[in-house]
Amino acid sequence: MTKEEKRYLKNKMQEEFFTLNKNIAELQNLCKPISPECALGDLTRFELIHDQTISKKALELAQVRSNNLQYALLKIEENDFGLCQECKEEIIYQRLVLVPESRLCIACASNKD
Ligand SMILES: [Zn+2]
Repeated sequence: MTKEEKRYLKNKMQEEFFTLNKNIAELQNLCKPISPECALGDLTRFELIHDQTISKKALELAQVRSNNLQYALLKIEENDFGLCQECKEEIIYQRLVLVPESRLCIACASNKD
């Protein structure tokens, strides 16, 4: 990975991290408990609870991704950034552009599935 590639990746991760954290804040709002005093019909309440289940799942995924990105942003200055944690081969750059927080190369990641 060249210095320019690394810089590009770092900017991309910071942008994604920023956007993700905004999404997390919005999702956390959506997941706030629905107050029982809130005057809603039964159907509306049911729909809200259903939507919250989806929002909670999305929130969980967003939080995991946010943690992974944060970790990758810490690691990017280290020499072993971009190396597969399993086989220690370089992870191809295109994969890192798509999923900057990748810790495994394509081969090792597909072995895990
Ligand atoms: Zn590997």
